[in-house]
Amino acid sequence: MKVQSWGALGRFEHQVTALFDRDQVAGHLPTPGLAHGLGRSYGDVALNPGGHLWLCAGLDRFIDFDPLLGRVRCEAGVSLDSLQRLFVPRGWMLPVTPGTRWVSVGGAIANDVHGKNHHARGSWGHHVLSLRLVRSSGEILDLSPDLQPDLFFATLGGLGLTGVITEVELQLMPVAGPWLDSETIAFHGLDEFFTLSTLSEATWEYSVAWIDCLSGQKVRGLFMRAKPCAEDFDEEGPQSSQTALQVPLTPPFSLVNAWSLRAFNELYFRKHANDGEARVHYQPFFYPLDHVGHWNRIYGRRGFYQYQSVIPTAHAEAATAAMLTEIQRSGQGSFLAVLKMFGRMPSLGLLSFPMPGVTLALDFPQRGAATLRLFERLDAIVAGAGGRLYMGKDARMPATLFQQGYPQWSLFQSLRDPGISSAMSRRLMGS
Ligand SMILES: Cc1cc2nc3c(=O)[nH]c(=O)nc-3n(C[C@H](O)[C@H](O)[C@H](O)COP(=O)(O)OP(=O)(O)OC[C@H]3O[C@@H](n4cnc5c(N)ncnc54)[C@H](O)[C@@H]3O)c2cc1C
Repeated sequence: MKVQSWGALGRFEHQVTALFDRDQVAGHLPTPGLAHGLGRSYGDVALNPGGHLWLCAGLDRFIDFDPLLGRVRCEAGVSLDSLQRLFVPRGWMLPVTPGTRWVSVGGAIANDVHGKNHHARGSWGHHVLSLRLVRSSGEILDLSPDLQPDLFFATLGGLGLTGVITEVELQLMPVAGPWLDSETIAFHGLDEFFTLSTLSEATWEYSVAWIDCLSGQKVRGLFMRAKPCAEDFDEEGPQSSQTALQVPLTPPFSLVNAWSLRAFNELYFRKHANDGEARVHYQPFFYPLDHVGHWNRIYGRRGFYQYQSVIPTAHAEAATAAMLTEIQRSGQGSFLAVLKMFGRMPSLGLLSFPMPGVTLALDFPQRGAATLRLFERLDAIVAGAGGRLYMGKDARMPATLFQQGYPQWSLFQSLRDPGISSAMSRRLMGS
């Protein structure tokens, strides 16, 4: 069966095994293989061309819930959408969520995903109490910060390379309801962005900025911050998890080009610059792109890359300015351009992406050599500033950049499951 990732850079043949029963996973893992969640990773982290893929979305049962402590035990194929819809009405929310709810629990752990509140609550790994891992040998291991901690911390952000996660125990966060108090502030210049981030850190649970990647040195953007409302309101939120709009087919070429990008950015900035304060449901704030089904098709048949970096605080402003200058000069990029400060909480996983500093994420239509040449220039800035790229989005970083950015990678190698391999692990780790 041909499988592609979210970036749609190619469709690759895999032998597919669907897993449905968590007690039957051991003994049902043909090798060399790789677990696959809901396929929301952009690049090749969830692909294993020519090998086996173990589909985990069928492991979607809830096992236990403690309503006093907000602890839930579920299978690893459960989606974040199911968790939010089941528990928010009961006063508990995911403490960390990425920008889409179509992510599985196993996928969230394997990329140790982050959200708009990294400065307040770290990444997913900080909220995993324990997990069950099945190795390709059939061995079943219960892991936690106290039980085999080396393998536990390798599995948080472990890119699926340590085994198949079948069950997870999570700590949820108490909330009064689904509503957030939000504020949107237009800014001009990176210095304003950094000031707003610093001022928001202590009192705003969530913050993120959209930027106009074509606006040059004095970059313009919209700083969005929010905090959970202290009370619930008897108002209707989105009624289902269905998407309102769909991109029905993949056009032969990208609809994102210099002209459409300039026009969209202008309209978007003008439309939202005066949004100010509002009460919003968590869904459009956390998951704005989920509103449009198959939005990744707008990039056409050649697909697209996402380039997401993190730059340590000391070099954050200078390196971000240098990257934005390169991007503007290239005339490439897309309206999906996000800037966010990570907090100081150290990541737990050996290969976790977040570190204290600033993260910049941008989509780029695939334009062959021109796009790859731009990435090489961005790589040089990231490497020079001591930063790194996010594996959940990557499809092309060179092994040298990976090994420099993730110095614990050789310790990680010693904890891998020898029956598991991915396109990414072969590209970055040699096997
Ligand atoms: C619109 C959009 C917005 C996003 N926003 C963010 C964001 O804000 N922050 C962020 O961090 N990420 C973000 N992402 C990326 C996404 O959260 C991650 O790529 C996530 O890991 C995808 O989960 P998945 O279930 O789709 O897993 P897949 O993409 O299918 O797999 C991801 C990894 O998980 C492993 N895996 C899956 N299931 C298991 C299992 N049961 N056991 C062991 N390993 C397993 C796979 O082997 C692979 O290495 C975004 C993606 C999209 C499309």
